[in-house]
Amino acid sequence: MLKDAIVIGTGFGGMTAAALLSKAGYDVLTLEAANEFGGCASKFDRDGFRFNAGATVGMGFEDGGMLKRLFDELDAPIPPMKRLDEIMKVYLPDRTITYFSEKEKWYKEVTDKFDKDQDRILAFFEEVFKVAEVLQRFVEKRAVFPPSTISEYFTLLSNINMSLLGLTPYLTQSVQDRLSKFGLTTNKPFMAFINGQLMDSVQSTAKYSPSLLGYMALSIFHKGAFYVEGGLASIIQAFGGKLSCFRGRTAPAP
Ligand SMILES: Cc1cc2nc3c(=O)[nH]c(=O)nc-3n(C[C@H](O)[C@H](O)[C@H](O)COP(=O)(O)OP(=O)(O)OC[C@H]3O[C@@H](n4cnc5c(N)ncnc54)[C@H](O)[C@@H]3O)c2cc1C
Repeated sequence: MLKDAIVIGTGFGGMTAAALLSKAGYDVLTLEAANEFGGCASKFDRDGFRFNAGATVGMGFEDGGMLKRLFDELDAPIPPMKRLDEIMKVYLPDRTITYFSEKEKWYKEVTDKFDKDQDRILAFFEEVFKVAEVLQRFVEKRAVFPPSTISEYFTLLSNINMSLLGLTPYLTQSVQDRLSKFGLTTNKPFMAFINGQLMDSVQSTAKYSPSLLGYMALSIFHKGAFYVEGGLASIIQAFGGKLSCFRGRTAPAP
């Protein structure tokens, strides 16, 4: 069995590569070490019920979003999904914070749930969204970093603009550095909330989270978060549909 390409791992990364290669006309073999496909966005099925194992919230399906663009590029149907207004509830010992996708609702929620420093908190989030917007516009250009070919250098350099250069000071700052500029590091409930969010998305607290990465993570839910029917494994399956042969386990593991 001669193949043009072998992709090891059927997580989001591997399956994206496999589907794009397949779309470009290559005969691709995917190999997976686990019982299930999907990696960190996997699932298991038992007695006709599906359980997500890992990632649950679909992002990047809004207009212009990365996954929406990828599906368009692959010419693949996007699995049924529902945009979430309420993404999650965050339980702190003395309050429950509802994470709303819509910015205005979110601002109202933080104003209601944090009884101190509301203006500072809103100013912090305004900065988060402003910085993330600049980054997002750059990321959408899909410039390769570090560049190695002339065309990669060209794409990178032609997408560097004044707003992006304006973010240079953030390169050496953590989220905590930024929070201290807003005088928020002594607000315990707010710090507990932010640290929890960053642990979930960046896997580190504000002190160790680089500000640009942390800001992207703190803004991402507000761009659009989706409940995908069948879980995020449906996305992996949709990528699999672009391969000439892709079978996922649907029966209980032996
Ligand atoms: C608990 C949890 C919750 C998350 N929640 C969300 C969420 O809600 N929304 C979101 O967008 N993201 C979420 N994420 C992040 C997201 O799931 C991951 O970023 C993404 O799935 C990673 O994909 P990947 O392809 O890079 O790696 P992986 O998913 O880790 O895929 C790697 C694959 O390669 C296989 N593999 C490794 N070595 C070999 C080998 N030698 N031979 C064969 N196969 C091999 C592994 O078994 C695995 O299937 C979450 C992650 C976790 C862990």
